[in-house]
Amino acid sequence: MEASHPFKTNEFLEYLSRPKRVVFIVNPRAGTNLQKHIGEAVDKYLNHRRFVYSIWSTAYPGHGYELGKKAVEEGFEIVVVVGGDGSVNEIAPALIGTKVSLGIIPAGSGNGLAMHLGYGREVSKAVAKLNTAENQLIDVGLLNERPFFNMAGIGFDGFVSNLMKEQTWRGFLPYFLKTIEAGLTYSPSTCRIELDDRVLTEKCFVIAIANGPMYGYNMQIAPDARLDDGLFEVVILKDVPRWQYFAAVPSTFTGKIYDEAFVEHFTTRHVVISADQPLHLHVDGEGLLSEQMLRFDIKPSALNVLVPLKVPLDSDVLAN
Ligand SMILES: [Mg+2]
Repeated sequence: MEASHPFKTNEFLEYLSRPKRVVFIVNPRAGTNLQKHIGEAVDKYLNHRRFVYSIWSTAYPGHGYELGKKAVEEGFEIVVVVGGDGSVNEIAPALIGTKVSLGIIPAGSGNGLAMHLGYGREVSKAVAKLNTAENQLIDVGLLNERPFFNMAGIGFDGFVSNLMKEQTWRGFLPYFLKTIEAGLTYSPSTCRIELDDRVLTEKCFVIAIANGPMYGYNMQIAPDARLDDGLFEVVILKDVPRWQYFAAVPSTFTGKIYDEAFVEHFTTRHVVISADQPLHLHVDGEGLLSEQMLRFDIKPSALNVLVPLKVPLDSDVLAN
């Protein structure tokens, strides 16, 4: 038998074994201080035979997007956002439609997407999980053409996000207190909600337009949402006495929110929402107040993400 072609085989093997270029983009103003330790964690837990890395920091609003673009242009294969859903929202638009994969080291106040993908809460473990993560294509949501990756919400959750803007103290407790404060003061608007196959006119406490299933803190508002089905999950919490929402909070942690009588949910490719008054909303946790009509579209399979393997890490990986 003729000898194989060693040169070509070697080239291929070299390609396979060549370390991938990864850049960590750190948002120094994200919700927690964990990102300060990222350099140490990457040095210690990233597999340096598989990856060569750089660490960049954002310096001003909008810089994350510019750094994302720069990473694509400079031929990085992986961009790891060190931050929360808000940082992903800023940086990942630069990766849409490219071959560059997104990783996330959760270091924000809301880490819904990272938690759902399986990165967990701990920086060192999240870094170690990159070593064996697999590439997968996910959908991207568009709100009036502007990309979002995890979730948008109209109503109460938008109102809370707007209240949080004024808050410098971040974390679960301030979020919880703001939620209680908002629960006492928020008054829902009547919205017209157009889906693929129906139009609803309802006074809604929350309308969640979900690509991923959870807010931060493991609260699943849309437990059936899938990142790769080309559909939004739209979850409506109807206007009922406030105590019913508080009583239902535990079912958001157990994935049972759809069992509550005041919850309706739909799948759809597009959503148009309008109201007679300005609407409080959030996009990946960022609070906004909008007087425009809100049009949501889904862009299927538009972003590569690195998804950690669903197996426990080798205990020796984090033994040090
Ligand atoms: Mg989906």
